[in-house]
Amino acid sequence: MTSEKISGQAIIADGSGGHTLETIIINPPRKDEVLVQIKASGICHTDYDSINHWPGPFVAGHEGAGIVLDHGPEVKNLKIGDHVILNWAIPCGKCFQCQIGQTNICEINSPVIHHAKFNPGHVPLERTQYAGKGILRSFNLGTMSTHTVVREAAAIRIDPDVPFDSACIIGCGVMTGVGSVWNSAKVTADSSVVVIGAGGVGLNIIQGAKIAGAKEIIVLEISRHRLQLAQSFGATHLIEVEKEDKKLTRAKSEVWKITSRGADFAFECTGIPELGDAPLRMVRNAGVAIQVSGIEQEINIDMNLFEWDKTYLNPLYGKCNPSVDFPKIIKYYKSGSLKLDELISKKYHPHQLSEAFEDMLQGRIAKGVIIFD
Ligand SMILES: [Zn+2]
Ligand SMILES: [Zn+2]
Repeated sequence: MTSEKISGQAIIADGSGGHTLETIIINPPRKDEVLVQIKASGICHTDYDSINHWPGPFVAGHEGAGIVLDHGPEVKNLKIGDHVILNWAIPCGKCFQCQIGQTNICEINSPVIHHAKFNPGHVPLERTQYAGKGILRSFNLGTMSTHTVVREAAAIRIDPDVPFDSACIIGCGVMTGVGSVWNSAKVTADSSVVVIGAGGVGLNIIQGAKIAGAKEIIVLEISRHRLQLAQSFGATHLIEVEKEDKKLTRAKSEVWKITSRGADFAFECTGIPELGDAPLRMVRNAGVAIQVSGIEQEINIDMNLFEWDKTYLNPLYGKCNPSVDFPKIIKYYKSGSLKLDELISKKYHPHQLSEAFEDMLQGRIAKGVIIFD
């Protein structure tokens, strides 16, 4: 353990929608903290939303992979030189939910708290200093940075032969997608699955369903480009949705032609509030509808859509148990059955975040990654 401060760079959100690349000072880790040199950071809709809506200043980014440079004396399972993926649902290990194994919804360090007002209690702010003061880090990670200090519970060791750019996206979009399939919906072999929206998360729902052995993977999308992508990730049926088909009525009739009674599972991954009830429209009686895109707005739902015996799930982070799920994802990646490299449409320098957001919002990329050299 060193006691040296180091200098780095970070993308700082100013709290009013702006962001700049700035110099930061990183103080040495203490107790159960780990100093990580970030090599790659994924770019997510949550980053765009947080930079535009959260109070600042803070270090942006919550999807990161890098190398352990140093750690405090209470760190048990990591050592200098380990390659790690960061996990944004950092468990306290002691609350009701953590005790029953549901660390993704930890009551102390819930991401909901991060959204509302951040939770600075995790690692003292002074570990990262900007303009002479300790600064908040998005989700207590702040991965759009050359260095960060996190709790050991936030860093999961991975094999050093997994490239950092492919690894960093596991920590959010990939986990949310495949975890919603495997851990929440528990998609079964030979089942039929509808995926509404084939963006970054939707593509991972598709590949999660394929690995689970789903027989029909039916993708509804408005963009032809995304439909092609969906096919390359394992979709078996493609339905191009017309702009006018707001309630997905025509798309639903296509689903019925394929499944005869509605799908066993349907996932909503568009983020469009009006489509919050769409997965209920696609499933058979006693089917499972899953809303993955994080719709939080108030909408009207026709209660007839729940008939009969349907289940509606709203999982957070794919019910992630990172020490089990991250290695599982990497196992499938190494065997060639789960694509990570192909998800990354474009890599960016840290000063290109605005360009990356533009590409993401225009639907030009499945997933963008910032590379820190
Ligand atoms: Zn994310
Ligand atoms: Zn907890």
